[in-house]
Amino acid sequence: MKRILVTGGAGFIGSHLCERLLAEGNDVICLDNFFTGRKQNVAHLLGNPYFELVRHDVITPYYAEVDEIYNLACPASPIHYQYNPIKTVKTSVMGAINVLGLAKRVRAKVLQASTSEVYGDPNVHPQVENYWGNVNPIGIRSCYDEGKRCAETLFMDYHRQNGVRIKIIRIFNTYGPRMNPNDGRVVSNFIVQALQGNNITIYGKGTQTRSFQYVDDLVEGMIRLMNTPDEVTGPVNVGNPNEFTILELAQKVIELTQSTSKIVFEDLPADDPRQRQPDITQAHNLLGGWQPTVQLAAGLHKTIDYFRQQVR
Ligand code: NAD
Ligand code: UDP
Repeated sequence: MKRILVTGGAGFIGSHLCERLLAEGNDVICLDNFFTGRKQNVAHLLGNPYFELVRHDVITPYYAEVDEIYNLACPASPIHYQYNPIKTVKTSVMGAINVLGLAKRVRAKVLQASTSEVYGDPNVHPQVENYWGNVNPIGIRSCYDEGKRCAETLFMDYHRQNGVRIKIIRIFNTYGPRMNPNDGRVVSNFIVQALQGNNITIYGKGTQTRSFQYVDDLVEGMIRLMNTPDEVTGPVNVGNPNEFTILELAQKVIELTQSTSKIVFEDLPADDPRQRQPDITQAHNLLGGWQPTVQLAAGLHKTIDYFRQQVR
């Protein structure tokens, strides 16, 4: 039995990861400061004797004897990471230093939840891992983008300097049940708006694109990456390459919810990436033929079912 630490474990992705790791017979410590995560996301796991929930902030060190660490702690939605941008940088950078220090001391393997945002507003399409990106270092998204980029740097330097066993996964837009209804990201916003009969808010003209991955496909990719041989460090893109405009997403959500909501157009936030699509060749080759299995309509159905219970 492995003992596994999941930081940010009470969040959307973290809660699915904890559930899956427990189901595979591991002992799981879920650490969270509950900024965007919720106890409710892991309440169903609390009765399991191999599950521990710890309130802790990753900007201060945490000590535990563990075999593996998944570092997910960080607000992921633009409205939340921009709420206190200095804290967002501290969470990414000091959080990385703290989990890497722990991994070094206890010789644990450590996986960093990085992001497609390291590519910024990309000039290379689809995005391949050796593209260095087009990131504004002084804009309103920089606290998140540069924080995550610095975390990748720290992971590589702890690996080169101290031999820490690391894995970097670059996660592309992921959605599914347990996203917070007030999360502010596009999939949850559109579904909640459609179910409540409110206007669907498209920022800009809706011509910008994203490629949406269902959470179960991501969790499978994360665990496969953690289990790769030590020489595989990443970064590895994990996402669903099927690309949609935001207008197409709005139309799909209206269709699937059979909503009477109208689409309205609002201002586009600064530095909003115009296009995004992962090249997943590396994930496929390194992670035993991994590829997404849940396409948008099927994933949206499951997510809509979840939100119907949440927002009445
Ligand atoms: P989320 O906001 O639901 O989860 C983040 C979790 O981290 C929350 O439970 C939050 O309370 C916790 N947290 C935040 N700051 C913390 C701190 N200082 N100390 C301890 N806990 C803290 O978001 P998510 O979508 O589940 O994202 C999880 C991770 O995956 C994040 O690191 C995010 O950057 C990364 N990611 C997500 C996506 C996506 O599309 N969902 C894409 C790329 C990367
Ligand atoms: N977006 C939108 N309406 C919303 C929320 C988001 O049009 O209510 C847009 C946003 O401007 C961006 C895209 O949807 O172009 C994805 O936004 P999200 O915050 O989900 O993720 P990210 O921009 O970080 O990929």
